Amino acid sequence: MEWLQLPPSDLLASPWIMGLVGLCIGSFLNVVVHRMPLALERGWKQDSAELLGIEVDLPEPVTLSRPASRCPSCGHAIRWYENIPVVSYLALRGRCSACKTGISLRYPLIEIATALLFAGVAWRFGEHPVAWLWAGFTAVLVALAGIDWDTTLLPDNLTLPLLWAGLVASALGWTLPLSQSVWGAVAGYLSLWSVYWVFKLLTGKEGMGHGDFKLLAALGAWLGATMILPIVLGASVIGAIVGIGMKIASSLREGRYVPFGPFLAGSGLVMMFAGPERVMGWLGWR
Ligand SMILES: [Zn+2]
Repeated sequence: MEWLQLPPSDLLASPWIMGLVGLCIGSFLNVVVHRMPLALERGWKQDSAELLGIEVDLPEPVTLSRPASRCPSCGHAIRWYENIPVVSYLALRGRCSACKTGISLRYPLIEIATALLFAGVAWRFGEHPVAWLWAGFTAVLVALAGIDWDTTLLPDNLTLPLLWAGLVASALGWTLPLSQSVWGAVAGYLSLWSVYWVFKLLTGKEGMGHGDFKLLAALGAWLGATMILPIVLGASVIGAIVGIGMKIASSLREGRYVPFGPFLAGSGLVMMFAGPERVMGWLGWR
């Protein structure tokens, strides 16, 4: 299976420009990872209260832009020059300018990771506008991985648009042939759905969430049906290594499981960078 080839053009998709944009998008993704679960939870509480006809205390409404960012320990309002990706973290030496409480290293790390991924996309897809499309795909995966890691949720309002965007991009002739995309979505959903039910019937436990099916469906829509098995294999291997590592470091609390979504997302990105030719070669399918 070959991905569609588009004529080259150098429309603002050099690795440097995309890396710089990635740095800023990474900063935004930090906000999404932190706030989207809060906003969703508030909505669910409100819906449940209305359905049950009871009064509940709801937290302050949260959107991506409101309230303005504050230090979680002292409430110091973060000024624009304290919010420049990576630079501000280094200038503040990783501490709040008011109360000197440490700022999580995760913020600059997500910014740097997003910058590297965006630059990598420019390198992988050439200096072509379609690279921006793949950068968008990458950004949504970073957000999903972060949210799943923190909360074991893979929100529908990220997985489903990602799935549709993959199908539409393919229908417009920008990525892979449409049949590969459609069957990729179907195979992605049904494969994990089947594993889920077999596991549940055998053990009575739920091994993964429905969000995982939707995420793999989205990955299938972007990468094609032939990539589903390699993605799942890759995610299982990386997930097992990290899970065992965390058990040895005993940072895995009793009864808490390692979410599968970050590994699916990570494995999907590996397969995107490798491309179908190389992946099929790894599996000896050529
Ligand atoms: Zn502070």
